[in-house]
Amino acid sequence: MRPTDSDPGFISHAPGYWPDEAMGHWSDYKWQLRHRVDSLAELEKHLDLTDVERAGVLLAGHKLAMSITPHFFNLIDRKDPDCPIRRQVIPRIEEGWNAPEEVADPCGEDSHMPVPGLVHRYPDRVLFLVTDRCASYCRYCTRSRVVSGVGEQHLETQWEAAFRYLEQTPQVRDVLLSGGDPLLFSDERLDRILTRLRAIPHIQFVRIGSRIPIFLPQRVTPELCAMLKKHHPLFISIHSNHPRELTSEVRDALGRLADAGIPLGNQSVLLRGVNDSVEIQQALVHKLLMCRVRPYYLYQCDLIHGSSHLRTSVAEGVAIIEGLRGHTTGYAVPQFVIDGPGGGGKIPINPNYIVETATGRVTLRNFEGNIFDYPDPTPMPAAEMERLHREVTAHAG
Ligand SMILES: *Cc1c(COP(=O)(O)O)cnc(C)c1O
Repeated sequence: MRPTDSDPGFISHAPGYWPDEAMGHWSDYKWQLRHRVDSLAELEKHLDLTDVERAGVLLAGHKLAMSITPHFFNLIDRKDPDCPIRRQVIPRIEEGWNAPEEVADPCGEDSHMPVPGLVHRYPDRVLFLVTDRCASYCRYCTRSRVVSGVGEQHLETQWEAAFRYLEQTPQVRDVLLSGGDPLLFSDERLDRILTRLRAIPHIQFVRIGSRIPIFLPQRVTPELCAMLKKHHPLFISIHSNHPRELTSEVRDALGRLADAGIPLGNQSVLLRGVNDSVEIQQALVHKLLMCRVRPYYLYQCDLIHGSSHLRTSVAEGVAIIEGLRGHTTGYAVPQFVIDGPGGGGKIPINPNYIVETATGRVTLRNFEGNIFDYPDPTPMPAAEMERLHREVTAHAG
């Protein structure tokens, strides 16, 4: 691959500019967690901040904490104030302004919780929020009202009540563990949770939503993979937004998960100045396929407080999907969705390929803009039916 910005290859950035103390510790995930960049003083040791960022860091202290693993921090281009990695994790002053359309709980989760920590919106599946902590914090987090532990609201998962609800609700056949990031738990704790879920006969399918493979690939140890493997069918949805995030360490971590038989999907968020072009999205989805990850959803950014500088119009997302569909591998094209404000669930948004619907036919366009008619089926005429019956009878005699 060409080492350009949108197509950088699987390049390791370790340990990069990190001080010498990192030598020998880089691949230890506990070292990575202990050395996260989580204060203004720490951040200024590594990076020349803009005024907009310095004010943002001061604001973040009581909204959504800043925390960046050394692994992810090293992907930042130190010379580029508009670096797409930087925009995802370093707070900016714009976070302090709530646009009129923005809310604290954009997907209406709090009103769909039968038990605190369990969101039951769809008939057959639930979202189980198992922790409020992540390895690093995304500035556009849809759950920033409860995540990171510095805001006014707190996640209060009621474990026993949640398990009892799941045991007593047979229509739930699919449980999605999220948070926060479930892969921050120890292997033993995750094993206990998965074992408890697997003991419920009607739960067929379990998945984990995690950005750990991107923020902290060192956490994806052979021991973790061996434990997860006991709980199949288990899927994992990762969260990657930019091709530069797919380093050689990340590719290897994803390979270990795939080798454990875990089908991998990716959920991206469409973000202004991060991945709002066909070129970057195409480089991202191609690299994901090379890591054995199927692009699953591309989310329109939720209407979360302080996110207007990161959001795009919906039309920009539709144009990106048009730029992918037909132009590249079908497996590489995610479903573009908007999580319905207030609690509508995920609504698929597609370019319109039906040009006209008339009686007896539809008129379509393809990815190149060429026009095709597709007719409805013609019922077989009764006379033809009788003629064929006579013919068959004659042969049989
Ligand atoms: C996203 C989500 C799910 C899972 O949806 P899928 O379309 O099956 O991936 C389930 N519950 C809630 C509340 C969700 O937000």
